[in-house]
Amino acid sequence: MNHEFFEIISRVEFEALLNSFTAVGTEKVSISDAFGLVLDENIISPEDLPPANRSCMDGYAVNARDAFGATEGNPAYLECSATLKVDENPDFELQPGECAAIPTGGTLPDGADAVVMVEHTQELGAGTIEIRKSSAPGEHTMLKGEDAAKGDIIFQAGHKVRFQDVGLLAALGIKDVSIHRKPRVGIISTGDELVEIDSPQKVGTIRDVNSHTLRCLVNEAGAEAVNYGIVRDELDKLESTLEKAIAENDLVLLSGGSSVGMRDLTVQAIESMQDSEILAHGVAISPGKPTILGRTGNKPVLGLPGQVTSVQVVMLALVVPFIRQLMGQQDAFSGTDRMLVQAELGRNTVSKPGREDYVRMKLTYRDGKLPLAEPVYGKSGLLKTMVQADGLMIIPADTEGFYAGNTVNIWKI
Ligand code: AMP
Ligand code: MG
Repeated sequence: MNHEFFEIISRVEFEALLNSFTAVGTEKVSISDAFGLVLDENIISPEDLPPANRSCMDGYAVNARDAFGATEGNPAYLECSATLKVDENPDFELQPGECAAIPTGGTLPDGADAVVMVEHTQELGAGTIEIRKSSAPGEHTMLKGEDAAKGDIIFQAGHKVRFQDVGLLAALGIKDVSIHRKPRVGIISTGDELVEIDSPQKVGTIRDVNSHTLRCLVNEAGAEAVNYGIVRDELDKLESTLEKAIAENDLVLLSGGSSVGMRDLTVQAIESMQDSEILAHGVAISPGKPTILGRTGNKPVLGLPGQVTSVQVVMLALVVPFIRQLMGQQDAFSGTDRMLVQAELGRNTVSKPGREDYVRMKLTYRDGKLPLAEPVYGKSGLLKTMVQADGLMIIPADTEGFYAGNTVNIWKI
């Protein structure tokens, strides 16, 4: 049976359809296991951090007024009334004209509001300290609650936990947080010509590339990849594998058979599932037009192009952000996860209007100038165009291209 593309829709419309799927369920995990996953709760600071004013330096705790205007030529002289330990909670108040020796991380006594670094002081004996630098209130100190104030929302639900966030949670004594669990993503390669990668080279066969690249990108997105191997272009085989994969996963990715030819069976296989629907067939991006979005029950199924490079671009442009959305990330489609490099375009680069182009780009780094970005041209079936590329340049659908010399954003891949 020959079918046609459904109406080809824009990348933005395709994303809106992807956005209609709800995030996977949640669980409580330890903060280090939450790394890379997305919070399902607002995290409220249970206490002030630090709990009292703390020194950031080895030196002397002072009242800044007593050291105001001090210089090497015109130092201030203070009486050292105590030598504090790092784990001490001082129970006295600094009097005018006094200072207290304090280590990094030590708690300031009442009456002290600044620390003078030890390098700018001199012990003169008999408890007198020469202060050779002016000090301002708050200098070299961390104020009570400055890192986090009790009751503050420190992270919002939908925030992806980064290593530095784990650090703040640890400092606040928060051991576990509620996150969206890792989605399971089933991967199916389709095609009569496909063989496993340990098969010897033989004319008429093609080693299965896509299940390997897809697995990498699924893992990079933070999900768990489950491989269902190679399925021949036979509807009953495809249906049974798809049914199993849907039952066992939160999302299923098929590659190959997504276009409109005789042996392109993905649409039919999705349609044959219980309570299923094709939501889109065709998206206005290049490469990557023959992309299918289907639904069975409330689970998404994506039919991706078989072309080895097209499918990589579709994964980067749409599927990785979609997985992050399924993981609960709020701004998954905004491109904030992309690593962008500004570069100078090396040659005029044109694009057909009406589709968003993902141009493979090579970067040459130069001293004191923006890197030079040049398109890597080549047939889209060649793996080496992606291998030679350092990044992608997106030419919007309503733009005809960019000129040599333009400053452009390159999305590092
Ligand atoms: P299709 O969309 O099924 O017509 O596939 C388009 C092209 O991509 C054909 O040349 C296929 O042989 C190739 N292809 C499809 N799937 C894979 C795969 N998993 N690994 C390598 N090449 C593939
Ligand atoms: Mg095929």
